[in-house]
Amino acid sequence: MSDQLALLDTPPPPHAVPLTRRQIRRAQQLSNALYACGDDVYFWCEELGYKMFERTLPKNIPAVLKDGYIILSRGMSQIMQVIAIAHEIFHHEFHGAAIAFRELTPTARNLNESQADSFAVLVAEPSVLKYDTIQQFYTESELPDEMKPIREALLYLIKV
Ligand SMILES: [Zn+2]
Repeated sequence: MSDQLALLDTPPPPHAVPLTRRQIRRAQQLSNALYACGDDVYFWCEELGYKMFERTLPKNIPAVLKDGYIILSRGMSQIMQVIAIAHEIFHHEFHGAAIAFRELTPTARNLNESQADSFAVLVAEPSVLKYDTIQQFYTESELPDEMKPIREALLYLIKV
């Protein structure tokens, strides 16, 4: 499988947390589900078993997942909505209860965040694994500028 090879061939930077095969598979499932929903984010969430609605959230909080509800910050572009939702779903499915969050050391918390971001990018742009360089990915995938802040996540997915 080329996607797994892309990760294996590329030693991640020392601080990187590559996704497991299971996590990569899950990202592809979510991506396929979104496609099957005609890129309708509301319908997608519903299909995944979450009720989604938009609210005004504090600036640095794009989304919250709680009790089967996804609360999304108002006014995000569609790709950023997908990334925010996938990020939260990753925490929910792979990092267990949110209660543990405060018990994590700052380092573990950062690793979890980077992992969740990598996963989210993979859901939004599954083609990411096919690029050789981050620059090439930026140029050819025509990513919106707002995705640049999650550049760090790409370090786990693309050869540097
Ligand atoms: Zn997070």
